[in-house]
Amino acid sequence: FTSKLPAVGTTIFTTMSQLAAQTGAINLSQGFPDFDGPEALREALARHVAAGHNQYAPMTGLPALREQIALKIERLYGRKVSADSEVTVTPGATQAIFCAIQALIHPGDEAIVFDPCYDSYDPSVTLAGGHCVHVPLAAGNFAIDWQRLEAALSPRTRLIILNTPHNPSGALIGRDELDRLAALIRDRDIHIVSDEVYEHLVFDGRQHASVLAHDELYARAFVVSSFGKTYHVTGWKTGYVVAPPALSAELRKVHQYVSFCGVTPLQYALADFMAACPEHLAELPAFYQAKRDLFCDLLAGSRFTFTRTPGTYFQLADYSAIRPDLDDVAMAQWLTREHGVAAIPVSVFSERPDPAQRLVRFCFAKREDTLRQAAEKLSAI
Ligand code: PMP
Ligand code: GLN
Repeated sequence: FTSKLPAVGTTIFTTMSQLAAQTGAINLSQGFPDFDGPEALREALARHVAAGHNQYAPMTGLPALREQIALKIERLYGRKVSADSEVTVTPGATQAIFCAIQALIHPGDEAIVFDPCYDSYDPSVTLAGGHCVHVPLAAGNFAIDWQRLEAALSPRTRLIILNTPHNPSGALIGRDELDRLAALIRDRDIHIVSDEVYEHLVFDGRQHASVLAHDELYARAFVVSSFGKTYHVTGWKTGYVVAPPALSAELRKVHQYVSFCGVTPLQYALADFMAACPEHLAELPAFYQAKRDLFCDLLAGSRFTFTRTPGTYFQLADYSAIRPDLDDVAMAQWLTREHGVAAIPVSVFSERPDPAQRLVRFCFAKREDTLRQAAEKLSAI
């Protein structure tokens, strides 16, 4: 038997969440809230299960949910998309990204990803027979390094995967950078997968620059989001892809054989909640910014150093002043075992990490008491 993914092992999320559970550490590693999604959303799910909405959903997603997604996109990004031909609901953003990659990549094609990057991109490209070219983001601010990007382009490049707000750094891609990217690929046969699962988690009054608001890029893009992040229900594993009709048609050919459709009652509940509570989206930045600020204020007296994250629910922290002798994988283990707080090492998201980097990622999508307890432990080190 020859493995199709010989370099892949257990993901860092499984590893660290298991270690946190085994050791009883506070789990700030894998990204998920330790509080529940809105009560009205959970009640809607119970109602729809009781009402018998328990058989297959349409392959492309429940029409009412696709309508709500289209309405949101028009409201936030000024684009009118067709709920019928441009919006596809999937069981999670990870699957949406996988399907978009399978639809695009032929054997021998290259896909560009920016390191550090979410761990599903590279194996998805490999399974399609393609090759992932890893372009490091700029050290320090995690911005696109244009020289490196241009050097990485080849006649085989078919895809560039964007992620803004960026996991793990929180960095945002600006509208001017989208313009620059559009100019760079204008005369090339390159598509875009834009992973915008943290689109609503943008802080300090900044705006999320969506590919959905960019005519030229959208014409060749798959834009992906996740209800898990937006409604505090990562376990619901429901996301969606928005793409022009011809691209959506190709994506659906894959999606219908990966899962066929998403989970029916979840889609009913999300559609109801989006219609009843559109203000949820506008409230999210302040909700998570308060958590970020609480966590950062509490860590201000610690020996970790950091710049407050501009987006996502992750905060990077430099531990050079604490254990410069440990690489970040060892540091994450040490923090979990010896100090009762689990974190994610940042190097695992890069093909060739800088061995001198001393960064771990903390998830602050947690209740206030969790953040206080964790910060107390981290400040005592
Ligand atoms: N992309 C990024 C950057 C993520 O952080 C996540 C969630 N961990 C996903 C995609 C996947 O989202 P989902 O849980 O909906 O599959
Ligand atoms: N996206 C989440 C994170 O970055 C985890 C997703 C997963 O467990 N695969 O922590």
